Amino acid sequence: MENMEKVVYLDNAATTACAPEALEMMVKALSGACGNPSSHYSVGYEAKELVDTGRAQVAKAINATPAEIFFTSCGSEADNWAIKGTAHKFAKQGKKHLITSCIEHHAVLHSMQALEREGFEVTYLPVDAEGFVSPADVEAAIRPDTALVTIMFANNEIGTIEPIEEIGAVCRKHGVWFHTDAVQAVGAVPIDCHALPVDMLSLSAHKFNGPKGVGALYIRRGVMPLNFLDGGAQERGRRAGTENLAGIVGLATALEAAVNSLDEKRARLARMRDYVLEHIQKMPQVKVNGPLDGSKRLPNNVNASFTAAEGESLLLMLDMRGVCASSGSACASGSLDPSHVLLSIGLPHEIAHCSLRISFGVQNTMDDAKAVCDALDEVVPAVRQRSPLWRA
Ligand code: PLP
Repeated sequence: MENMEKVVYLDNAATTACAPEALEMMVKALSGACGNPSSHYSVGYEAKELVDTGRAQVAKAINATPAEIFFTSCGSEADNWAIKGTAHKFAKQGKKHLITSCIEHHAVLHSMQALEREGFEVTYLPVDAEGFVSPADVEAAIRPDTALVTIMFANNEIGTIEPIEEIGAVCRKHGVWFHTDAVQAVGAVPIDCHALPVDMLSLSAHKFNGPKGVGALYIRRGVMPLNFLDGGAQERGRRAGTENLAGIVGLATALEAAVNSLDEKRARLARMRDYVLEHIQKMPQVKVNGPLDGSKRLPNNVNASFTAAEGESLLLMLDMRGVCASSGSACASGSLDPSHVLLSIGLPHEIAHCSLRISFGVQNTMDDAKAVCDALDEVVPAVRQRSPLWRA
């Protein structure tokens, strides 16, 4: 946190700093209610009340009922549960086909690959040049043995907000369960689970200024994937494990705060996003990745490719100027392969390698947007000058 104050932190899609009000409630939870929420005595009830209150806050924030909210250890667990729990449930009825997109997060893609190794069949839908999945493609891919469609709400790299309502409507029409990984969307755009035709929705606290290591899965009433974590009877018997009390309290507090100030937050983030997008489009040989229509793009997301300026070099030089961003490489896996998302929108390898993601957060100001533009004006030509591929 100390370091975060010295740097211009523009990697909020990777993670966000914990909001002070969430931190305060977490400290209270850690130092107060010392009981196990499953225990039947006063300090246990006190802890259970914190979990129940958190569940009600989360339900209100995404317009669900508390009984439809299940806490997990992270967004990845929520995705794994929705996908594997549904696949294994319907396999018993001979339904072993799943549909997803080729730009999903690895929590989804690797879950799918694990299921393929077990004998499931997966259709990976393509996306267009801005990263949109076509609802018509979803409909064409649905078969009598399709168990689940899972399409992310918003992409973590290029910010594309998918047509979730239309895709969900297609799934409803064909009676197929629909899950959406909304890890990047919750707390960033309005989400109404009861109005949307979604059956399951994943979220993660650390993307909206909550703590790391806690998430939730919304499961619509009547929808029942098999359990993913077996053990005790926590989460109404559907997800075992003693509750992460402080994490749940932090998640709920941060989400409530994010949703209460959503309109103002979105407008502020979009102003910074659009300032940077406008600036970089004036630079030579730059391609913006993701939708150009701001209403279909996450309000905090900028992603662009700078011909002949390798992303990792840009990152290092930005870091030397105190700016933290992210490249288009799959850094999380320790690999320098270009991102599957950038390749899926049709970028050639050499352009995908020259990409940068800038993602704003609530702590950022227009000064940060200006600072990253100034830094890019210096580092992009400097990196290009050393590249044998650069032709001005
Ligand atoms: N899904 C998306 C779209 C994400 O961006 C992330 C995190 O980067 C995850 C899932 C995984 O969430 P978590 O880090 O909580 O496991």
